[in-house]
Amino acid sequence: MLFKDLLDGFIDLFYPPRCLVCGVWKKEWLCEDCINNIDDSSLPFCCYCMKEFMDIPDICSECNSSNFGCSLGYYEGVLREAICKFKYEKKIILGQKLGELMSRKFLIFFRPSSINIILPVPIHPVRMQVRGFNQAEILIRVLSSKCSIEYSFDFLQRVRDTYSQVKLPYDKREENVRDAFEIIDKDFSLRGKNILLIDDVFTTGSTIRECIRVLSKTGVNRVFTMFLARSWKTNF
Ligand SMILES: [Zn+2]
Ligand SMILES: [Zn+2]
Repeated sequence: MLFKDLLDGFIDLFYPPRCLVCGVWKKEWLCEDCINNIDDSSLPFCCYCMKEFMDIPDICSECNSSNFGCSLGYYEGVLREAICKFKYEKKIILGQKLGELMSRKFLIFFRPSSINIILPVPIHPVRMQVRGFNQAEILIRVLSSKCSIEYSFDFLQRVRDTYSQVKLPYDKREENVRDAFEIIDKDFSLRGKNILLIDDVFTTGSTIRECIRVLSKTGVNRVFTMFLARSWKTNF
């Protein structure tokens, strides 16, 4: 823990929390006004062709995929700012609120009983050491407790660091994440299960599709995905 984090904690003992996005003292790390400014109207979408649906179908009518994702909203405005503060400025406290908002959105489109286990998109151990946390794991703890679904951080592992991904052109990303993940499931516990994968932002989807590809090899039934935000750009 950095000295600055300690100091922040000390200050918060004497001053009530202020909204980390608008800066107003409202006893909330993300205030209701800011939350109300999040456009959460984004619909479930196919992880392969990006077609949107009013409800999650069995099969995508466009590409026959059965893997659908849903995000809390689009990567813009308040949501973008909150995600950046959470992820890059290590305001871990925002994870609780973002996890709650994600749970709320999850419950609109999913039945908790239709998911057997929640897994995070893992980050590489070296990255984990540098950043100190995987934002997806923080969100999962909230989602799991709000929706009473089991989770595990062990099945899916990242075996190759691919963090130059953001700097890569879209058409190179798929190739870059190839074989970046591995499944540790000696007892075949994932076989026949419905998985919910959690990640922070869906951009091109290459990372999530690679996770789905590796998971599919273990005989899972279906893989669904949930993100904090989805980037606006859908044609690449
Ligand atoms: Zn605010
Ligand atoms: Zn599709």
